[in-house]
Amino acid sequence: MSAGQTLSRARTVRARDQIALARFFAELTVKEHIWPTLHVRPLVAELFLTDNCNLKCVSCACWRETTTDELTTSEWKDVLGQLRELGILKLNFTGGEALIRRDAIGLFDYASELGFGSLHLNTNGILLSPKRLEPILDAGVRSFNISIDGPGALHDEIRGRVGAFERTTRHLRHLIGLRDPLGLKVRMNFTVMRTNVHALCDVMRLAQELEVRLYLNLATDRTFLFRHQEISELSRVTEEQLQAALAEAETLLRADRRWLPRFSDLRYMRGHFSDVIQRDLPCAESQLKLMVHSRGEIGGCWGHDPLLNVRTTRVREIVDGAEYRDEHARLFRKDCSGCGSNYSLNLRWRPSTYVRDALWRAHRLTLGDP
Ligand code: SF4
Ligand code: SF4
Repeated sequence: MSAGQTLSRARTVRARDQIALARFFAELTVKEHIWPTLHVRPLVAELFLTDNCNLKCVSCACWRETTTDELTTSEWKDVLGQLRELGILKLNFTGGEALIRRDAIGLFDYASELGFGSLHLNTNGILLSPKRLEPILDAGVRSFNISIDGPGALHDEIRGRVGAFERTTRHLRHLIGLRDPLGLKVRMNFTVMRTNVHALCDVMRLAQELEVRLYLNLATDRTFLFRHQEISELSRVTEEQLQAALAEAETLLRADRRWLPRFSDLRYMRGHFSDVIQRDLPCAESQLKLMVHSRGEIGGCWGHDPLLNVRTTRVREIVDGAEYRDEHARLFRKDCSGCGSNYSLNLRWRPSTYVRDALWRAHRLTLGDP
């Protein structure tokens, strides 16, 4: 396929995804206001190819023990086939670090063969060398999230590996160089925690220098990968720390908004560290994604563990079952542990988000307002 054809295909897939997402949000509106038990089928599958990793991030529990008995290549292929039959549109490959699996690229290839047009990869970027990237792109992956937890030494310290920042940003720069010709979507993820919140603006400036969209993850000990005593400490960002970081961030945002999180995202972040649930905002994320874990557990959400397994039950049976539907009705209204995962999606379908952003642009709101 020529570069022009690749670009045009990427645009078509993106447009199709946007339409499906608009329909999904319309269904959620019905679910919120008219029909609380409406079954809104997931559009995206979050596939934890492995819970193991090649880094040792202080904010993560996955590397603290080795996970065994993960799904085999043929089991994953079977799951991919079932997800296709279910009408899932997009696959997010994640981990752990998905690329440490030898069969990862083969699975991306297989997903493309099945007809999935929208493949996304979350990675720490360590293994995403130009040589490794080529077959990943050939396999059809067109969207990437790469994690950066601070400038230089701070990133290395948090990620538990000297040289990680240099290597990841080198790979990220290469990827960004291919973004426009191939129509790639590239995002840089920064996990805000007690030990790096002071560097928020350094990372915002880095995003602007690299010209890459910055997304803020918010440290939490509620999700299955992050439940650990040490992580609980990291998720305790004080009001003083937040105020100092946000005052600087607001100045930066006023000067130039390109590539940066919106006012409403930063406002959500301010609330996250004192109210992790923020119950007034329904959880679209839990409805959008079907979680498939490395050992086949399926369902739940980022904060709630799944009860069923693809090794014993068909995916369609699980998703259409009463247990899944009841749980997802509760998760949608945030009858949950709270975790803040993908809060940006949760904000995106609320008209109040756009009103607040507009008021902020008109200097009628600030991040310091109650
Ligand atoms: S946060 Fe990501 S890169 Fe870091 S140890 Fe966990 S899975 Fe690996
Ligand atoms: S906010 Fe609640 S419902 Fe949504 S993913 Fe987190 S724990 Fe699950």
